[in-house]
Amino acid sequence: MATLELRDIRKSFGGTEVLRGVSLDIADGEFLSLVGPSGCGKSTLLRILAGLESQTSGSVHIGPDCVDGQRAADRDLSMVFQSYALYPHLTVAENIAVPLTMRRLRARDRLPLVGPLMPGAGARRADIACTVREAAETLGIAHLLGRKPGQLSGGQRQRVALGRALVRDPAAFLLDEPLSNLDAKMRVHMRAEIAQLNRRLGATFVYVTHDQAEAMTMSDRIAVMTDGELLQVGTPDSLYDDPADIRVARFIGSPA
Ligand code: ADP
Ligand code: MG
Repeated sequence: MATLELRDIRKSFGGTEVLRGVSLDIADGEFLSLVGPSGCGKSTLLRILAGLESQTSGSVHIGPDCVDGQRAADRDLSMVFQSYALYPHLTVAENIAVPLTMRRLRARDRLPLVGPLMPGAGARRADIACTVREAAETLGIAHLLGRKPGQLSGGQRQRVALGRALVRDPAAFLLDEPLSNLDAKMRVHMRAEIAQLNRRLGATFVYVTHDQAEAMTMSDRIAVMTDGELLQVGTPDSLYDDPADIRVARFIGSPA
């Protein structure tokens, strides 16, 4: 089960409360977009879901389990960042393999990591190579596996970041404005590819964006946030036809 549940999440940095009681249920396999103006708390909420940040109060559930206190690496989630977060000195194949080699490192009781791929059994290396190739093929970058990130276009780098998320075979993907560094044409193209991944994999997607068109075209539901609170959660049509207030209407572009 890859249902995700946020229960009354609050978060303060210093004396400032940036999340003010956010509750949200995300269904198994759902594509949910989280939208709202810059600084409203979208990234913070996603990072709390991922376990990269801890909430001040409230709880996070993944499937039937409360995961509060569980490390990011132990949650069955993959996060994709706006910056792609690729290692410049590693090849595309090695970058995609990172979560697999890290996981093996833990499972194998802290064998020293020599180079990006684990030393030792050829079979394990072959497994990893096979998984990496499969992800690269899914994303149309199998011909780039030997290149370094510096030799790639923005769209190709974004695919590498998605490939890295894919090899973990997570129950849910969390994407934080993954297309905002791409040009308009590539954004529209990748939009369709990501929506297709959601349908093909059947995994849950939480997609942060400030782009109204992305949210409207990709999502099963949209959650609209301002100032650390959710204003409205609903299907694109329901938000368009029946916005809860003027801020939702403005964002969605429905006639006020
Ligand atoms: P969004 O992703 O919607 O643009 P963020 O979640 O990044 O918003 O930020 C929400 C608010 O929290 C902003 O006012 C931001 O300055 C603040 N904030 C985010 N991370 C930190 C941090 N590590 N320390 C202090 N303030 C932070
Ligand atoms: Mg952000």
